Amino acid sequence: MSVTPLSTAALDRRFARDLPEMAVSWQAEPVPDARLLVLDEDLAGELGLDVAELRSPQGVGMLVGTTVPVGATPVAQAYSGHQFGGFSPRLGDGRALLLGELVDAHGRVRDLHLKGSGRTPFARGGDGLATVGPMLREYIVSNAMHALGIPTTRSLAVVATGRTVHRETGLPGAVLARVASSHLRVGSFEYARTTGDVDLLRRLADHAISRHHPAAAEAENPCLALFEAVVDAQASLVAQWMLAGFVHGVMNTDNMTISGETIDYGPCAFINAFDPDTVYSSIDHSGRYAYGNQPAVAEWNLARLAEAVLPLLHADGKHAVALAMSALEKFRPRYDAAWSAGMRAKLGLPGDADEAVVSPLTAQLLGLLQAHHVDYTSFFRALAAAGRGDTAPIRHLFTDPARIDEWTAHWRALGPDADAMDRVNPLYIPRNHLVEETLTAAVDGDLSPLSRLLDAVTAPYDERPGLERYAAAAAPDFGTYRTFCGT
Ligand code: AMP
Ligand code: MG
Repeated sequence: MSVTPLSTAALDRRFARDLPEMAVSWQAEPVPDARLLVLDEDLAGELGLDVAELRSPQGVGMLVGTTVPVGATPVAQAYSGHQFGGFSPRLGDGRALLLGELVDAHGRVRDLHLKGSGRTPFARGGDGLATVGPMLREYIVSNAMHALGIPTTRSLAVVATGRTVHRETGLPGAVLARVASSHLRVGSFEYARTTGDVDLLRRLADHAISRHHPAAAEAENPCLALFEAVVDAQASLVAQWMLAGFVHGVMNTDNMTISGETIDYGPCAFINAFDPDTVYSSIDHSGRYAYGNQPAVAEWNLARLAEAVLPLLHADGKHAVALAMSALEKFRPRYDAAWSAGMRAKLGLPGDADEAVVSPLTAQLLGLLQAHHVDYTSFFRALAAAGRGDTAPIRHLFTDPARIDEWTAHWRALGPDADAMDRVNPLYIPRNHLVEETLTAAVDGDLSPLSRLLDAVTAPYDERPGLERYAAAAAPDFGTYRTFCGT
């Protein structure tokens, strides 16, 4: 393994230093034939990384973990997780490595992390690998989420490894280089708690406070303040998912961050028609992670976080539980407030519009969209035209256009701001049929659909000629969409 000075960035090993019990030093597996498929040059610049160097063989080596920058000590991170409700005490990075942390151009500490870099001591039965399709899916969707203004881990690059990975069939292997404000998860706290080592739990909380919620350090009860900050961040995040029509698909506690960034894009997808029961993941048989269940699941996951940190909240167990409960009770009102404010913005209504009017109007609209199977994203964008007096685009979305007329008249009477709506209602999202066609082409070696789709979804609000098909709903014969965890 070569050791290279990445001239531009020094990687710190802060996580490994603060929490050695949760970090296993490890190396990536060799890669037969590394080929850079896609690199986010803007993100590279933000991280202070030299784009030309990243594109060089040594840079690509760093992006797959076979070239380790000087001073870096890659680690696999330990964490636990509640998966579909059942607790697994030892999950951890089975196929991922934290290369280290770097300070970006804005002075923020960011993790540089690899996914698909080979088996680690946490791999259990897995092969430690990832494939081109799912890694490009994460690249596309995380880029789209970022452009929509939704907190997310970022994708720096996807590199094809030249290795065949055995899933249902042989698939081309890939490594994703990911950037996050940290990879601390609810499951990280569950792991620390499971060890029974309260000192480790405290160091983990201190690490999380200093990285994400520094104001909590000044609070009378810092760990309680940390928990409250995570409750806030997740309430806001999940409200943004719901407003955008995003279904994460596998909201296990190991896939929920302390930072409030969306993480671990697996069987995720955006809804077409508005329907709270929408499930895309082929393994989510009970609909636990259905679109409409996401707020309740987030709250459930936060209760698991509360249980994990109880010993830090108060020496008296009963008192600790009471503190945790009252903090957790803030989730619903925070979520409701964030969602309502976001929905007002989608409807172009001023913040001071009478809630007693807006709330039933919104409920009525969602009922209409659901009953008539109207495409969610198309509707809100078309609604701005109605705000300008042209109701044809929204009427066109209903088989019986008269069904929306009365609602539209009520809404227009509130004086919506159509231009403001166009700034919050996207035209271009990674629609499921577009993602599928892009990934199929990429796996066959054609990357041009990928760059066109990225072009559209990274400027989601700006209407551009030539991109009409990226704004259109799937043809009805696209059928019932299924996403697979077979990542
Ligand atoms: P995920 O479903 O990606 O959130 O992963 C859940 C757990 O399974 C994590 O501990 C992963 O590291 C592990 N895992 C997923 N796929 C693999 C794989 N191919 N090899 C080893 N571990 C894996
Ligand atoms: Mg995961």
